[in-house]
Amino acid sequence: MSKSVIVVGAGVVGLSTAYYAAAKGHRVTVVDRGLAETEGCSFGNAGMLVPSHFVPLAAPGMVGRGLRWMWNPESPFYVRPRLSADLLGWGLRFWQASSADRVARAAPLLRDLHLSSRACYEDWAARWGADFGLEKNGLLMLCRTERGLEEESRAAEQARGLGMPAEVLDPRETAEREPGLRMDVRGSVYYPWDAHLVPERLMATLQGKLAGAGVPISWQTEVGRWLTSGARVTGLGTNRGELTADEYVLCAGAWSAAAVRGLGLKLPLQAGKGYSLTLPRARRLPRLCAILSEAHVAVTPMRGALRVGGTMELAGLDETIDPARVRGIVAAVARYFPDLTAADFEGVEPWCGLRPCSPDGLPYLGRSTRYSNLSVATGHAMMGVSLGPVSGKLMAEVLSDEKPHLDIGALRPDRYS
Ligand SMILES: Cc1cc2nc3c(=O)[nH]c(=O)nc-3n(C[C@H](O)[C@H](O)[C@H](O)COP(=O)(O)OP(=O)(O)OC[C@H]3O[C@@H](n4cnc5c(N)ncnc54)[C@H](O)[C@@H]3O)c2cc1C
Repeated sequence: MSKSVIVVGAGVVGLSTAYYAAAKGHRVTVVDRGLAETEGCSFGNAGMLVPSHFVPLAAPGMVGRGLRWMWNPESPFYVRPRLSADLLGWGLRFWQASSADRVARAAPLLRDLHLSSRACYEDWAARWGADFGLEKNGLLMLCRTERGLEEESRAAEQARGLGMPAEVLDPRETAEREPGLRMDVRGSVYYPWDAHLVPERLMATLQGKLAGAGVPISWQTEVGRWLTSGARVTGLGTNRGELTADEYVLCAGAWSAAAVRGLGLKLPLQAGKGYSLTLPRARRLPRLCAILSEAHVAVTPMRGALRVGGTMELAGLDETIDPARVRGIVAAVARYFPDLTAADFEGVEPWCGLRPCSPDGLPYLGRSTRYSNLSVATGHAMMGVSLGPVSGKLMAEVLSDEKPHLDIGALRPDRYS
């Protein structure tokens, strides 16, 4: 049955949801408070599709590592100390989720989500041409220390245990994979199933496909209120008046928890700020995307441009740029790639985006149990691009009252209620 659907949020998750819901015959409208169609976390990110990321952010050792990093202004992780019940509650849940047992349970689900999403991207590329710069040539996890390489080798073993190829390479073999750029590393792990794309092109392509399918995107439309009657949402109060539909899907990224305040839903979420810098014409370009393992910095070639990005700063919904963290990213790149220096990045405007982070590192996907016509798709943290299409596909199945093609019971949005 065709339903009217309002999707709140025009990031990669919202647009993917709108695309698949429209493909199932629903009458979809997307609303976004953004001033322009090129803003937000889904644009300046590193564009990596990462089946290799089957370990959620909440993992053993992360709390201790985070506490050590806290005191270094250039470190990849930072929590701005503040008296916030939301932050304290989130931190406690993160700590509870950081067990080997939980990670072992999450890993096969994350693998399946990433692989299903990758298949969606392949399908889009086959049908639309490679408009959005999809490169399926893998990812290098570069390690500068023996300890780092040992840790990554253990992760590679886990990946193989989950049926995904992962090759541990010495410095010579690493250089063979990336002949155009000198690297100062002890070795690497190569994940051939990972891929990368150009996020801005992906977003423009999705916006174009939605326009072609007759799905309007209403920009500068901020949802401020949810109107309810009993167990149903009856409308949305926006700065442009009230909107009504049969179904509502919340895809408001890091703002999702704030957007549903007043609805009585418990959706623990922290914004994880990250930065990126893009060299439009880099002097030297890698062929593959890479993660600088010890520094937690992502490096992606994007059709002649080079993007580097990193840091996870829990500082609330704050989009100011901290120059020390940006310096930390640039310094890390120069350590791993001696051909790239701080001078290459002089004058480059840093970009920042807020990742929507759930405490257990898993997205929120599915219908709310409190409101029968409200669904949620958010909380993808560092994996929103990688998991965007599969999230959209699953949400379209949920909206159509079909059995989702993957078991998303563990992702239910009210798991903390
Ligand atoms: C530096 C960096 C690098 C990254 N690299 C990668 C990567 O390589 N691979 C990967 O998979 N992921 C990566 N990510 C993460 C990825 O970018 C995010 O997970 C993803 O963009 C989140 O998409 P989203 O649609 O959930 O949210 P968003 O893109 O933030 O979209 C949410 C939208 O909701 C709108 N909105 C919010 N509140 C309201 C309201 N009240 N009313 C109306 N509209 C509203 C906002 O304006 C926004 O447009 C990276 C992130 C960063 C910061």
